[in-house]
Amino acid sequence: MTEPGFRTIIEPFRIHSVEPLRMTTRAEREVAVAKAGYNLFQVDAQDVLIDLLTDSGTGAMSRDQWAAIQRGDESYAGSPSYFRFRDAVRALFPFEHVIPTHQGRAAEKIIFGVLGGPGKLVPNNTHFDTTRANVEFTGAEAVDLVIAEGRDPRSQHPFKGNMDVEALQALLAERADDVPVVFMTITNNSGGGQPVSLANLRAVREVCDRYGKLLFLDACRFAENAWFIHEREDGQAGREVADIVHDIASLADGMTMSAKKDPMGNIGGWLAMNDDELASQCRSLLILTEGFPTYGGLAGRDLEALAQGLTEAVDHDYLRYRITSTAYLGDALQRVGMPILSPTGGHAVYLDARALLPHIDPLHYPGQALAIALYEAGGVRSCEIGTVMFGRRPDGSEVPAPLDLVRLAIPRRTYTQSHIDYVIEVCEQVVAAAGDLRGYRIIDEPPALRHFTATFEPLR
Ligand SMILES: *Cc1c(COP(=O)(O)O)cnc(C)c1O
Repeated sequence: MTEPGFRTIIEPFRIHSVEPLRMTTRAEREVAVAKAGYNLFQVDAQDVLIDLLTDSGTGAMSRDQWAAIQRGDESYAGSPSYFRFRDAVRALFPFEHVIPTHQGRAAEKIIFGVLGGPGKLVPNNTHFDTTRANVEFTGAEAVDLVIAEGRDPRSQHPFKGNMDVEALQALLAERADDVPVVFMTITNNSGGGQPVSLANLRAVREVCDRYGKLLFLDACRFAENAWFIHEREDGQAGREVADIVHDIASLADGMTMSAKKDPMGNIGGWLAMNDDELASQCRSLLILTEGFPTYGGLAGRDLEALAQGLTEAVDHDYLRYRITSTAYLGDALQRVGMPILSPTGGHAVYLDARALLPHIDPLHYPGQALAIALYEAGGVRSCEIGTVMFGRRPDGSEVPAPLDLVRLAIPRRTYTQSHIDYVIEVCEQVVAAAGDLRGYRIIDEPPALRHFTATFEPLR
């Protein structure tokens, strides 16, 4: 948060326990990244100074979360830690059934295991990649129906994550029998961490009601989404974020969740819903792979940390600081000439590598070139989201992705404003030398999800 009249963002916490960062030289980093086959997923975290690869599970837990861990009760069945977790979830999302899982994707695997299958079709504003993979694994089709503004990197729409309600209505008019559930991802991660408005959720609810369809939330960044509603939607500014979250939940029939995002966990997730029969089918699958329904792949101490984390996630001072500090990075990067997706979303800033490096052909991976340059220049690790990630077609051909982006994801409560100022300087240096950057060639890649393990070679 920023004190009125001051520019400096005050982190609304002070540091209680420190983790040393290991300093490296540019020469050391050039060796490390070459050894990793120019793939940042293959670089040891020890060789990274500022790690912006993901905001998933990388946040700092609070003093009170560490204290809660001591209270963890490891009883196999009916642990009091489960009940504290369940009640903390229900305080925000009052669903009848709350089923813990080890991560968000485990919740997805279970719900689509019950609702998916060949011939089925699941609409979403935009499927996150694990969500899409879990839908498709059952033989069902995953359809993205975000509004047109959500696909335009320069559109300033305040709720770029919104669902195209008319497209949803048209799809249901044609294929209602094939649609088991409608999903809404808040915030829309794959679309740049962009929020969804309450008005849009209400409109989607109405369409679902008209066709008698379940509406589920992929709610990983629910608190950031609620903060954007608080800041941007008419009539919401005076409300408590927890009440806005309540309104969001009351429009849905259930949710999947990764607790590695807004709930401040280093691990965890859950599945929640109102329908008894659906919950009973989900619990049967849960027992096969995750565990008994009162721990679901988590230790009692993890459940305690999440129960506490959920109360911290909706704190206004925290959320103001969180969203302001992400925007601070986005604004500063634009000032130093780095093209970005705008407006800045909640958890990350997305650099437009194709715009910065027009001299690199998309099939020579401008996003990879930019990500490697940021690492070599300053030890900043980011994530290519472009042609490396999405360019390989199932038929083996290769095409440019719609955009070549590099994501700087901000771990929660982990880095200070001076770390972020350093990242801005590193970007400034890379922008100044952008004309000298060269593309890459893939020398070895696996058949699927190549971005994790492919090896590259710089073009000379
Ligand atoms: C991270 C994420 C998931 C998957 O959660 P994991 O805990 O990584 O398995 C699903 N949906 C969205 C929107 C996410 O951001």
